[in-house]
Amino acid sequence: MHCSDCSEQISLYLDGLLDQEQVTRLQAHLAHCEACRAEWEAVHWLSSILEAEPAAAPAPDFAARVNLRLQRREARRRRVRGGIGVLLGSVGLWGAAAVAVALLFVVLWQPSLRIVWLDVGRPLAGKAFSILAVLGRALYSVVHELFQRPSWLLLSGNAILALGLIALWTRIVLRPRALMLQVNAKT
Ligand SMILES: [Zn+2]
Repeated sequence: MHCSDCSEQISLYLDGLLDQEQVTRLQAHLAHCEACRAEWEAVHWLSSILEAEPAAAPAPDFAARVNLRLQRREARRRRVRGGIGVLLGSVGLWGAAAVAVALLFVVLWQPSLRIVWLDVGRPLAGKAFSILAVLGRALYSVVHELFQRPSWLLLSGNAILALGLIALWTRIVLRPRALMLQVNAKT
């Protein structure tokens, strides 16, 4: 037997795939070839270790950890999907508003309706506008008067306004964060 065939014969022997004649030839070669005997010993030793060692079992909490990971991934996916839903919803609302405005524009542009608009709508709108203008001017003069002569009323009004704005700002800034923290704690 040649040394180059020996490695293959050794592994076939360990797998029980050699007939008696082949086994005898292999043993005869190993008896006088030191290199192949060394290889035989190494391979035999390794294969005995592998047979004695039970298959590596996963850690006891492996399944639980995988499960937790899958749940987290699912929660993340749901959050992303929810965000996309909100986004699409608001886009839909804005789209509906745009369509409504466009329809109104088209309707008002119809010749017959334009006459109605010119006859009834515009004077009414003009009246409303003049009333608003009067109210605006009155409001402006009151504010102007107050700013000309600072008084305790103005100062306290400003303070109340500032406090209200701060409270509103705090609510707007802190509320989504609290909600987000709750969501994160749950997942
Ligand atoms: Zn040999």
